[in-house]
Amino acid sequence: MVVTRFAPSPTGHLHIGGLRTALFNYLYAKGMGGKFYLRIEDTDLARNSQEATEAILQAFEWVGLDFDSEILYQSQRLKLYQSYIQQLLEADKAYRCYMSKEELEALRESQRVRGETPRYDRRYRDFKGTPPQGVTPVVRLKVPLEGEIAFEDGVKGAVVVQAKELDDFIIARADGTPTYNFVVSVDDALMGITDIIRGDDHLSNTPKQILIYQALGFGLPNFYHVPMILNEQGRKLSKRDGAMGVMDYKNLGYLKEALLNFLVRLGWSYGDQEIFSLEELLQHFSPKELNSAPSCFSPHKLDWLNAHYLKTISNDTLQTLLVDFDMPPSFGRLKPVQKDILLSALKERCATLQSLSLGVHEVLDPPTAYEPLKNPEARTLLKAFMHDLKEASLDSLENVQTLLHTFLAAHALKPGTFMPVLRVALLGKKGGIDLKEALFVLGDQVLERLQTFLERT
Ligand code: GLU
Repeated sequence: MVVTRFAPSPTGHLHIGGLRTALFNYLYAKGMGGKFYLRIEDTDLARNSQEATEAILQAFEWVGLDFDSEILYQSQRLKLYQSYIQQLLEADKAYRCYMSKEELEALRESQRVRGETPRYDRRYRDFKGTPPQGVTPVVRLKVPLEGEIAFEDGVKGAVVVQAKELDDFIIARADGTPTYNFVVSVDDALMGITDIIRGDDHLSNTPKQILIYQALGFGLPNFYHVPMILNEQGRKLSKRDGAMGVMDYKNLGYLKEALLNFLVRLGWSYGDQEIFSLEELLQHFSPKELNSAPSCFSPHKLDWLNAHYLKTISNDTLQTLLVDFDMPPSFGRLKPVQKDILLSALKERCATLQSLSLGVHEVLDPPTAYEPLKNPEARTLLKAFMHDLKEASLDSLENVQTLLHTFLAAHALKPGTFMPVLRVALLGKKGGIDLKEALFVLGDQVLERLQTFLERT
């Protein structure tokens, strides 16, 4: 059975790179009928916070990636990790190192002076004497003195590191707390993780983790280290390029379906297909097809996908989603059919929920200024139209259409002559949704708006 995990460190919001990693792990496990676990790596008390954990969980809940069983918190497992440290000490696979910080510093300095790579010189590796007074020891792993640590990375290919390039690295600090690579390895092994998909910033940790697995007698999982997401200029993604928290995307009005679809394509492809339902992803995704080249974040593509998904959702769902956005109170007073026409019209034009709510304002809020009109006949035409309007009904799109048609015919007007005038008088500017729809949505207010335009201009 495939068992994967997502293991964020709660140092801040869940960012989109993290969500992409989570998604890959989720899709692989769930697509294979396996298990997907969530583990919070919260042992670094100075850098971790409860708020950050909650922010991560909130983002997870929003995107709807379900995980199996309880969330595992590393901070609750310190005793367990310590028992494994003890086990390694007893098996002579790890040892206590009594070197003080000052001694280590002095050693590094002398190595630097000699032009050598600064590293611990293993001086306590086989120490059997009486420990020096006043130093609380750290615990170091006995890294093999020679040989290779080799593994086949599912994305990078063969990775080989010479054991002699690695220090006897610390697995427990002087205060007894285990170090990062140690807890990750113990947990991955105990949780039965079969496949680890993570960012390639962790690639250099993997040989160390493999040594810990081996020392503890655990079997190795498969590793897949995915390259970073870069901006369109090929540089590290900054906040300005879109390296924001997942919930920032929600607040900007992106749909989770669009965001997930967008993220999965950053580093994975399936022929030329761009749009994937979750079912399709579960069916097709495989980490074996993850790309070894960095992927490029295109805000334009995210908008394109979001616009696509906006069109596919019902207006009822849309209204529920818009509750979180700034909507004018007048929207609530529209008849259901007016709401429906307005939302359908805006869905065709908007890329995000935020721009859609702005679009609702643009129609429903009376204009505060008017774009200038060059047509010298504008006022006369508008007065004539208002005259006809008093006799007409705007309670269906057909009636609106008939009114416009009859008016244009009666005055021998081309649509291009009159429509921009009507649009500016009604909405203040020339762009926007179809005028017929705007007239229908505004209904009773149309006459008043035209009157106001005549008074103010
Ligand atoms: N906690 C690590 C991070 O947030 C991930 C560790 C891992 O996936 O092995 O970067």
